[in-house]
Amino acid sequence: MTVLLAERCDPYGIESTVKLMGGMYPQSYMGKNIWYCPQRAVSRHRLICTGGDYGHRLANDGGLIRAFHCDGGHEGVKMPLCAAHIRELAIGPPAPGWSKDMRTPHGQVGGTKANEMCPACMWPPEARELQVKADAMQEELSRLHIGAQISGILGLNLRRIAQVSAAQDQVRARLDELFASGRVHKCPLKLVEVS
Ligand SMILES: [Zn+2]
Ligand SMILES: [Zn+2]
Ligand SMILES: [Zn+2]
Repeated sequence: MTVLLAERCDPYGIESTVKLMGGMYPQSYMGKNIWYCPQRAVSRHRLICTGGDYGHRLANDGGLIRAFHCDGGHEGVKMPLCAAHIRELAIGPPAPGWSKDMRTPHGQVGGTKANEMCPACMWPPEARELQVKADAMQEELSRLHIGAQISGILGLNLRRIAQVSAAQDQVRARLDELFASGRVHKCPLKLVEVS
């Protein structure tokens, strides 16, 4: 039997807080489209980070061993959901794990849907800081290049461009490192019913 709640379905946590994916994403992630669901909610749910093993490094025998274990547990806000949204959000990616010979990670890469990525795991503070830096550098680089286009090749501030590019390489290398070591990873989110 389906019991309708008095609340409307609120898959994005809009009714309570203006935040995406049960409040796990800040408002700035929302972009231009704010979606509302017109359906009545049938139950309340929460997205929870499942945790998993991530990253890899080479073992002595040349095999891969996992480098980072995440306990998971990060929680989104309570969301009243309609049946369709429960189905949609409940289908997650395959559980992260390793093949029997421990050589191939699966379910760890390429999460593209929001419910396949726990933002807290994807953006630990260091990664967020680095990304902000990388964005700022990218912006400065395009400003420098645009400036050069306007004033001709003589306007090209080669020294500054080299400086910023080098700094940007460093930031990217560190981000790659965080990803390879599993510190930055895509934990699947599991939808659980709450009262
Ligand atoms: Zn809905
Ligand atoms: Zn998480
Ligand atoms: Zn995680």
